Amino acid sequence: MKKIAILGSTGSIGTQTLDVVREQGDIEVVALAAGNNIKLLEQQIREFHPVLAAVWDEKKAEELKVKTADLSVKIVCGMEGLLAVAEVPESEILVTAIVGMLGIRPTIAAIRAGKDIALANKETLVTAGHLIMPLAAENHVTILPVDSEHSAIFQSLNGERKNKIHKILLTASGGPFRGKTRTELENVTVEDALKHPNWSMGRKITIDSATLVNKGLEVMEAKWLFDVEPDRIQVVVQPQSVIHSMVEYEDGAIIAQLGTADMRLPIQYALYYPDRRPLSGERLDFYKLLSITFEQPDVETFRGLALAYEALEKGGNVPTAFNAANERAVAKFLDRKIKFLEIPEIIEACMEQCRFVANPSVEEILSTEAAAYEYIEGRW
Ligand code: NDP
Repeated sequence: MKKIAILGSTGSIGTQTLDVVREQGDIEVVALAAGNNIKLLEQQIREFHPVLAAVWDEKKAEELKVKTADLSVKIVCGMEGLLAVAEVPESEILVTAIVGMLGIRPTIAAIRAGKDIALANKETLVTAGHLIMPLAAENHVTILPVDSEHSAIFQSLNGERKNKIHKILLTASGGPFRGKTRTELENVTVEDALKHPNWSMGRKITIDSATLVNKGLEVMEAKWLFDVEPDRIQVVVQPQSVIHSMVEYEDGAIIAQLGTADMRLPIQYALYYPDRRPLSGERLDFYKLLSITFEQPDVETFRGLALAYEALEKGGNVPTAFNAANERAVAKFLDRKIKFLEIPEIIEACMEQCRFVANPSVEEILSTEAAAYEYIEGRW
């Protein structure tokens, strides 16, 4: 029986991971971590019987302790709690499904403890890929992508490891505002931005999809996962979200992975790699689909993607400034404190004022994040 731990078990990826566990019936969940939603976490504890559960908030952790007093689960809190879940001796795989740079330290701890990583938390690779990838190699740990695009690339690389990638074709739906002009985007609301045409996801990534910042983060994630230079990663808009991404080889052959927009597939693939298992749900029906269309992304209107390439080009701690600025700007947009088009403005300003560090340590990454937050607080 495979044993897994999940960071972010109450979120979109976390709950879908548990759907896979429920459907397959041969994975043991040994530890869970959540932020605030102790109601759902308690249900998950009662259903999956982990030995350890973490809640970020100390008070909520105390509340959960009382609620689960009849069970043998140990409840922990804060960053120490996340680290304990990451390193829990019983697990083989850690699913990183929390949002943001909060994932860096637990991911590093899990790798050091020899756990394979089913990685959804892309912000960790974006900001600390230069630390994570060599550390994983050193500890003989496999990083298994959960992001659908990266899973598609990973699947397209099967049996091709020795062949050089000519180009990665990273597909994008274009989000809810595809085809809109800057003027049309001036007064879009939080509700408009949360209406993703194809995928149902957490709030932060849904806003990132609307700004195309998500695609920018994915370009950076792909660079680290597949060791490909940015000029060999091309974003292709494919609004139906049927082709999840493609790899072009030196001879011009292109291998792609296609499927419905169902995150359970890449999650399940990461958990059972290299095996495939049956999965319930809809299948692609090409008679109904009729067409798959392609477009170039509009990087003038959706500046987030162009800024991501710029951050990647500059390297060092600039992707951290990009990511931290975006995390804070998205939170402000969701709180209705700023407008949609201010998100890329804030990112650009933070990238410009970032004090460059070529090869940042975890501490320098976290201080770049803090500096970006401080800069934003004074201005927006
Ligand atoms: P959600 O917002 O749906 O879930 C986030 C999870 O993290 C929740 O369980 C939340 O707990 C938990 N969490 C938040 N803060 C803390 C904290 N301080 N300590 C412990 N747990 C915390 O996010 P998604 O599932 O959408 O995304 C997760 C990651 O996966 C992101 O990096 C995203 O970019 C990536 N991803 C997501 C995809 C998707 O389809 N959703 C696709 C590809 C990648 P609680 O709710 O209890 O507060």
